[in-house]
Amino acid sequence: MWELKEKYLGGMIGSALGDAIGELAFRYRSEDDLRSQLDQLNELRYTDDTAMSIGLAESILTKGDLDQKDLGETFRKNFLSEPGRGYASGPPTIFSIVERYGITYLDAAKSLFGGEGSLGNGAAMRIVPVGLFFHNSSNLYEKACLSASVTHAHPVGMDGAAVQAKAVALAVNLDPRHVFPFMGFIDTLIDFARSHEIKEKVKLVKQLLLENTAPSLAAEQLGRTVAVHESMPFALFSFLRHPESFEDCLFCAILNGGDRDTLGAMACAISGAYLGIESIPQVWIRKLENRSYIEDLAKRLSGTK
Ligand SMILES: [Mg+2]
Repeated sequence: MWELKEKYLGGMIGSALGDAIGELAFRYRSEDDLRSQLDQLNELRYTDDTAMSIGLAESILTKGDLDQKDLGETFRKNFLSEPGRGYASGPPTIFSIVERYGITYLDAAKSLFGGEGSLGNGAAMRIVPVGLFFHNSSNLYEKACLSASVTHAHPVGMDGAAVQAKAVALAVNLDPRHVFPFMGFIDTLIDFARSHEIKEKVKLVKQLLLENTAPSLAAEQLGRTVAVHESMPFALFSFLRHPESFEDCLFCAILNGGDRDTLGAMACAISGAYLGIESIPQVWIRKLENRSYIEDLAKRLSGTK
């Protein structure tokens, strides 16, 4: 079972580091500047992406499954104890609606954006525990949607999160010592997507990679907003362009504009789950804020602790 633990640690720690280092890339925009900053810093601080991944892992461990009420409560409690993690406006709005009107998190989430719900990347950014814990479940799509819709109830918001979860689950099940099965991986994700927006974007990721498109051009074509169909696909592109290297995947994801912390979190969740914790530079792991707690959650999710 050691290999599964390595992959769970890689997914959870990888995603947190992608978030923390991606956040730095808003200020340090070349690999050289970023690397010298990473050398100088004593601590790598993560943002809302990881704060919410932690909440999702905590809730799954408490309930042994996905429970929307417990998940919503956990997210709210964690937000209230650390409101300065760079949350977007959606989750705090939902928390106050639930508090004020006593409705469910799902109903509150559905009420946003004129009753459409959010299609931002906030459900996909945090979904690594779902992809890990349910990596062999035939209900992965439904589990991902349950985890998403307490804050992101738009069908595209849920679909983007589900495809990100599936990418993590596939990565867990692959042996990194073998040749990476590019076509099988991307075609599985294309089949898994249910919304037109996500399916077409994942097809475009495949085409851009087959044509060996430069990352900056790919980012431009895929989109650079916080909508999940404009950010998750570029994270996927970054992993698939560099499946053999955690570091190359990270720098590709965060140095081509867009929502850098979340791109880092999503790309590195997949890379870490594929390559395992050994692929991540030790010096970065040691500097990650709250590292031992995140490691503990990963081990407990894997059933090895
Ligand atoms: Mg963030």
